[in-house]
Amino acid sequence: MNERASSIRANLDAIRARIDAAARAAGRPASDVTLVAVSKTFPSSDIRLAYAAGQRDFGENYAQELARKRAELADLPDLRWHFIGALQSNKAKLLVPGVQLVHAIDRESVASALSRRALAAGVTVEALIEVNVGGEASKAGLAPDEVEALLEIARSLEGLRVVGLMCIPPPGGVPEDSRPAFATLARIAARHPDFTQLSMGMSGDFEVAVTEGATLVRVGSAIFGDRRAEGP
Ligand SMILES: *Cc1c(COP(=O)(O)O)cnc(C)c1O
Repeated sequence: MNERASSIRANLDAIRARIDAAARAAGRPASDVTLVAVSKTFPSSDIRLAYAAGQRDFGENYAQELARKRAELADLPDLRWHFIGALQSNKAKLLVPGVQLVHAIDRESVASALSRRALAAGVTVEALIEVNVGGEASKAGLAPDEVEALLEIARSLEGLRVVGLMCIPPPGGVPEDSRPAFATLARIAARHPDFTQLSMGMSGDFEVAVTEGATLVRVGSAIFGDRRAEGP
């Protein structure tokens, strides 16, 4: 096994162990939490190494990058793709059909585009609504009091099913800084008994997210290392 393969495998093993411990400490079954390995900017060869180490869920935040990697990895049929970025309506066709979950819808135009595309493809697409729990002006996501309105619209759209919420808390210094945001997201989600997914927690704070009820944690750099530059 080369060095890159053993480093990715060791990182995945360590993160899975930490997720299991955090879940146990919170009295939750570890099987409630899915690790989404965020592979953005990293090559498909790294995704193959993670796959060989047992990882199946991968997250990308540029539609073209996801589509390219999906084609490069088409021989791995049980790999699941998560789109975790901000989606432009005209890119929905790159994701549907084939994407497991769209994590971050925050406006009607994107919900409509996904619905149209799903109907054309004869599938149902599952999505989460991104909530700006930190209230930062520059951040993506809906204000907590805007969630209900988008949910109403989404429920009226065929081919689209909203199954939960997602957030990216303001960058903090220590993991605990994210807890209030995670708790807020969980509280909003609790008003909707039909929700099954809470996507929250990244490399720096996924254990806190698990103790606050995350069902999907999105971890990139702790698996694959530092990203040199972000971009498609
Ligand atoms: C990049 C990214 C992540 C992963 O971040 P890390 O800190 O590298 O774990 C998670 N969620 C979203 C939405 C991202 O864009």
